[in-house]
Amino acid sequence: MEKKRKPYQLVSREWKKEDTIIQLKNTAIGGGNISLMAGPCAVENEDQIFTICEFLSKQNVKILRGGAYKPRTSPYSFQGLKKDGLVLMRNAADKYGMSVITEVMDTNLVDEVYQYADILQVGTRNMQNYQLLRALSKIDKPVMLKRGMSSTMEEWLLAAEYILSGGNDKVMLCERGIRTFENATRNTLDLGIVPLLKSVSHLPVIVDPSQGTGLREIVVPMSMAAVLAGADGVMVEVHNQPEEALSDGDQSLYFDQFNDLVTKLKRTAKVLDKNLDLESEKILA
Ligand code: PEP
Ligand code: MN
Repeated sequence: MEKKRKPYQLVSREWKKEDTIIQLKNTAIGGGNISLMAGPCAVENEDQIFTICEFLSKQNVKILRGGAYKPRTSPYSFQGLKKDGLVLMRNAADKYGMSVITEVMDTNLVDEVYQYADILQVGTRNMQNYQLLRALSKIDKPVMLKRGMSSTMEEWLLAAEYILSGGNDKVMLCERGIRTFENATRNTLDLGIVPLLKSVSHLPVIVDPSQGTGLREIVVPMSMAAVLAGADGVMVEVHNQPEEALSDGDQSLYFDQFNDLVTKLKRTAKVLDKNLDLESEKILA
């Protein structure tokens, strides 16, 4: 029987057999290493981001996450420090030799976010913002495309196809949970999609168990499960004072929980003969 042709091409394994490896200045994503991206949901002030960044640097974390432009469900919620947040995050990351990943919410912010970020994140609410995807297809920096909360794998891969077909092949996918009837967790983290994506696509796959569960107590086991399912990395939210956080405090890890995560992910990676990407030299600015 003739195999049905997939609607996506450039993102597919048929198009490119080898795993895509995305090179950053201090590390690489994909190709056997397990990446760990960590930081607060939102950059809140200088003290907060420097405290968290310093803590993460002690564990040799390579990629700092943090939102400066925040897509909040309510217009009355903290919307992020915007450009000031980008500057603070860049300064903190440079001090400790880390890369920055942060969300770009709008086409008219691509130039600004590009200046400060090493990876530009497309949030779940924007996965099918085709203007934004086209704008990001024209830049030379990596893009992390989060899964739309109600999107199928095919819609997600076609969204990634927009970025590749426009000329940017530095794309990674991020599973962050989908909407289901279940409301005990914030979203339903779809780990079954991870090995499936790895078989149909060459793009690196990251899992975000913080947005994916909404509950800090289950972030560690779901991170381990993500790695076992074949993810190329995890992205987690960490805060120096989660109960004071201006966004997503309930799903933000305490520092001691983050340390526990590192210990457990190292062991998990070993089971698969992989390394958690914390080993190499720190680059101090
Ligand atoms: C986030 O990473 O803080 C975030 C807003 O992610 P998502 O778009 O997955 O909700
Ligand atoms: Mn968040």
